[in-house]
Amino acid sequence: MRELTAEQIRASIMNASDAEIDRMPLPGLHETVWADREFLGWRDPTGSPRGYIVHWVDDQPVGFMVRAATSALRPGIGAMCSLCHTPQPSTQVVMFSAAKGGEAGLDGNSVATYICADLGCSIMIRIIPGTSELNLTRDDLVAHRSAGLRRRLQNFTANVLKLA
Ligand SMILES: [Zn+2]
Repeated sequence: MRELTAEQIRASIMNASDAEIDRMPLPGLHETVWADREFLGWRDPTGSPRGYIVHWVDDQPVGFMVRAATSALRPGIGAMCSLCHTPQPSTQVVMFSAAKGGEAGLDGNSVATYICADLGCSIMIRIIPGTSELNLTRDDLVAHRSAGLRRRLQNFTANVLKLA
């Protein structure tokens, strides 16, 4: 993804109040390897249920705040993130909800889905197991997963933005 500045990130969040955006902690932008990311995702380091996802939709940074559910999936079962489609232990996948933007969000409407607990999908899709899918090279496999992740994130974003 293209680089984002702190100002762009704060201006991109479209489902939080100004006060929430002022309090929003930012990840270390200087350490971020932008070329290896489809979106910037991070959790509030204070341990609150809040997390943030920012990505580019065409030429516009679009971001939203998500909230982790307090109830966890049952340990010991397999789970899959709906964005990166990485199968992993259920303790590493959490139900997140996002308040809708605009009037719908003020009325209490939200959308929810299972996402990697640390919002680190871009890291997950770059971990290649020894037995590789489909005989693809590493670069082709990451490109394939990256395209899927970006498509699913765009769809989820469209649902958050949808006014009804
Ligand atoms: Zn994921």
